[in-house]
Amino acid sequence: MSPYFSSTRFVKKYLTSIFLVLCLIILSVFLGFNYKANTLIKEQLQRQGRAFFQEILLTRQWIASHGGVYVKLTPDTEINPYLRMIPDLDVVVSGDNGQRYTLKNPALVTREISDLANGKGLFSFHITSLNPLNPYNAPDPFEKMALARFEQGDDEFFQYVQQDENVSFRYMAPLVTEKACLQCHAAQGYAEGQVRGGISISIPATEMMREMRENRTWLIVSAFGIFLLITSLISYISKAFIRDLHLAEGRLLDMASKDFLTGLLNRREAYNRLGGECARSDRTRMKVGILLVDIDHFKRVNDTHGHALGDQVLQSVADRMRETLREYDILCRFGGEEFLIAVQGSNTKDIHTVAERLREAISRLRVQLPLGDNLEISVSIGITERGMGESIDQAISRADTALYRAKAQGRNQVVFLPSDVTPS
Ligand code: GH3
Ligand code: MG
Ligand code: MG
Repeated sequence: MSPYFSSTRFVKKYLTSIFLVLCLIILSVFLGFNYKANTLIKEQLQRQGRAFFQEILLTRQWIASHGGVYVKLTPDTEINPYLRMIPDLDVVVSGDNGQRYTLKNPALVTREISDLANGKGLFSFHITSLNPLNPYNAPDPFEKMALARFEQGDDEFFQYVQQDENVSFRYMAPLVTEKACLQCHAAQGYAEGQVRGGISISIPATEMMREMRENRTWLIVSAFGIFLLITSLISYISKAFIRDLHLAEGRLLDMASKDFLTGLLNRREAYNRLGGECARSDRTRMKVGILLVDIDHFKRVNDTHGHALGDQVLQSVADRMRETLREYDILCRFGGEEFLIAVQGSNTKDIHTVAERLREAISRLRVQLPLGDNLEISVSIGITERGMGESIDQAISRADTALYRAKAQGRNQVVFLPSDVTPS
């Protein structure tokens, strides 16, 4: 397995991408919901503003079409002083029964209804123009802005307006001069069909704004909750995934580097490690001892007791060697019933000792046969030292020559060949 490949980094990279995509989805859903809720509410308020405007307009039209309306004059009744300036207009009249009446024009009725609605906390409206007869009808900053827009051709204007603690939704649409209006406004130079001002409607929106804020808070909390849930889910899945991947990687690595039957290193992995050992040995001038171990008359074991028992013998010999050697010695199944061992930092005497200890430990091994007897096993061992700078194949070849001699001299013994002997 390539040392440059890290499954953990790979998994983390992809899971991070998934996580980021999910975060983006959650964020866009949240922003989308928030935007949609705000738009819906604004549209609703706009519709409400339009409806109020139309109602007021109809009321005004009706009053104007009758040239104003007369109402009973009581001490509380307001008389419009501006009407008095219009010649031939009966601002106060007396009825047959002596009851006096005063004329109310659309502007005054509009204001009085507005005061009434305002007093009930519903909504308020205001008739205004850039050139009002009555200073009360002078436009405020919002209305000025709206009137300026109407002059540019807009037919409505609305926005939220914050005043102290309160927020209101303000809607305004233009008033177009009609014939009936000219009765009072002709002196201002208005002509029929001309925009002469507008009616602004103010709808309280403080409560609605609070609810919208609450709604937004809930959206943020639930988005955060979903985010946490997804994060923990991804973290849990990734941990489990990485753990399983490590296990699988470990198994693959074992399969690629170990011998299936004995669990020892395979020849390829042993060569990899030997390369490192030799480089270190050349650097530190510490010798590497090479041992080739071969089971004596193993074919006979197979032939006499069967292949399965042969396998069992191979496993027992491998286990015994593993127990006898140090953990950092390289021990591999070189092929068939042959094993290769490399011991670091040993002098000739040490290598001999290790080989003898191995031979002796294996000779004490007893493998139980099906009928109850015990099978005795022996090995022959060829040993050598790798010369400085010498190739590993050359050293192994010399160990093989030594092993051949051990076999030839009667087996169950150790034969050493020094590094200056050329293998035959
Ligand atoms: P010597 O003492 O000269 O080494 O004789 P030997 O019989 O041990 O050597 P030989 O090379 O003739 O036979 C080795 C046998 O090992 C032949 C082969 O069938 C057997 N063998 C190789 N690999 C395995 C294995 O994985 N399992 C079993 N059961 N036998 C194996
Ligand atoms: Mg053999
Ligand atoms: Mg052999």
